Amino acid sequence: NGRNRVSHYSDAQGAEQDVLAKQLIMLSELQHGFERGEFFLMYQPIMDAHGDVLDAVEALVRWRKSDGAVVPPDQFIPVAEQSRLIVHLGRWVVQQVCRDLPRMHAAGLSHVKVHINMAAPEFLDSSLPAELMATVRAAGVDPSSLQIELTENMVMSHIDTSLPIMRKLTQLGFEISLDDFGMGYSSLSLLKTLPIASLKIDRLFLAGIPRERDDCAIVRTMLDLGRNMGIGVIAEGVETDGQLGYLRQFGCTLVQGYLLGRPMPLPQLLERFGRTAHP
Ligand code: C2E
Ligand code: CA
Ligand code: CA
Ligand code: CA
Repeated sequence: NGRNRVSHYSDAQGAEQDVLAKQLIMLSELQHGFERGEFFLMYQPIMDAHGDVLDAVEALVRWRKSDGAVVPPDQFIPVAEQSRLIVHLGRWVVQQVCRDLPRMHAAGLSHVKVHINMAAPEFLDSSLPAELMATVRAAGVDPSSLQIELTENMVMSHIDTSLPIMRKLTQLGFEISLDDFGMGYSSLSLLKTLPIASLKIDRLFLAGIPRERDDCAIVRTMLDLGRNMGIGVIAEGVETDGQLGYLRQFGCTLVQGYLLGRPMPLPQLLERFGRTAHP
């Protein structure tokens, strides 16, 4: 028994150490990968609700390890967030977008905005607006070409820090989008004071559309909310014609999802939507 108890105890402790060790290994791999330039961006289309016009794209980061395996961001962003790496990675994303934007413009996509995701350690830093401004200036990019996606959770749980930064960014001409909307706990009065251009309905709520009554009611409420507040609503994770039809019927103007287009490399985006593209 004594032996069992001892081994049980060390098993649990061992499992915990295992997780920590794995994260440490990944963090060091990430750091080396970053130095070796193993990160790249994919762009996913954000379309009008008829699926005809490209309105914007969302930049989504990927990590191609030296063995060729591509790691999705859900697996490495939380690890990168444990260190300053997330700040360097975030800056790299902005710089890469600023390099890609002129190519989009040259291909006739001058009206298209690029959405950029930002994690808390990157965003909740009062020097961010000035740094961002310096980066876009150096690249000759207009701030209004960028829409910064912040999760509702992050904004609301750090509202004292996030609100002044959001205000500063919008003063400078950047736009802000509230991501994963519906997953956090926004008070409506607080929501009204946020300087946001759009909110993005989390794809969790899209899953039951158009069959499940509750999901339908929630989505319709969010669409009304956006309309009444005069801000755009983007439905994320649209995978079926049924979802698209329902969203259109209730006045959703912007949609994003595998049905409209998966995240793709820049050349593919230009080929599909650029001036020389054949629809
Ligand atoms: P997110 O911001 O909510 O991005 C949307 C995610 O949903 C993307 O996953 C996208 O590929 C996926 N998606 C889009 N349409 C569909 C669909 O129809 N069906 C399904 N099942 N999924 C769809 P991805 O690229 O794996 O990114 C996951 C998350 O990683 C993002 O969620 C975002 O939170 C984070 N992320 C991605 N890029 C960056 C970045 O550059 N910086 C930071 N801080 N976070 C990032
Ligand atoms: Ca996003
Ligand atoms: Ca989202
Ligand atoms: Ca999400």
